[in-house]
Amino acid sequence: MATKIYQCMQKISDAIVENKDFLTDLDREIGDADHGVNMARGFTEVMKQLPEDEEDYGVVLKKVGMVLLSKVGGASGPLYGTAYMKAGAAVKGKTSITLEDAKAMLTEVIGGIKMRGKAVKGEKTMLDALEPALDALTKGIENGDDAETCLNAMCEAAREGVEFTKTIRATKGRASYLGDRSIGHQDPGATSATITLEAIRDFYL
Ligand code: ADP
Ligand code: MG
Ligand code: MG
Repeated sequence: MATKIYQCMQKISDAIVENKDFLTDLDREIGDADHGVNMARGFTEVMKQLPEDEEDYGVVLKKVGMVLLSKVGGASGPLYGTAYMKAGAAVKGKTSITLEDAKAMLTEVIGGIKMRGKAVKGEKTMLDALEPALDALTKGIENGDDAETCLNAMCEAAREGVEFTKTIRATKGRASYLGDRSIGHQDPGATSATITLEAIRDFYL
């Protein structure tokens, strides 16, 4: 039987592949129509290379990051590659994870994306989904909420973040070339980030 982290990565990969055309269509509006193609290619390769029996979350997530870095081009390859490497570093040696671990991972993911992409919240990127998601998860943990409540709140905040990206102008990445014409369209990267969080929630609940 495949390990838990392997099965979780399979769910994420399935969700990305299922949404390949949708993500590419979003990128057609404000970018170069390849976000879904890029992500699906990356995750298909990830699932080819991941060991089914490795229990260490840190080892598996580092491998995911390395494959994405090498197989996915554009902006999202290095950003997601860094995100998974950072998530792995946050749970090195662990074979199961808690809500606190999830918070530590998401904190590191956001730090890594900011370091690589030099963006902040409000620039119409994946950060507009991930930062509210972390805030909601943190609040849930502080309230003593159960895992279901915390993970649902995290995903709801990410979805609201995606909606928010429709209202703002892109100032980072390809979409920034459009200036005000990027307003009215949801950000592809914020969308794929939210799809990822939802796949993780659905797997663990
Ligand atoms: P490319 O734009 O190179 O074709 P993709 O289409 O795969 O790459 O990814 C585009 C997504 O990358 C955007 O929707 C946005 O969310 C994200 N992105 C672009 N630049 C940055 C950045 N500097 N920081 C964070 N995310 C970014
Ligand atoms: Mg693109
Ligand atoms: Mg591209």
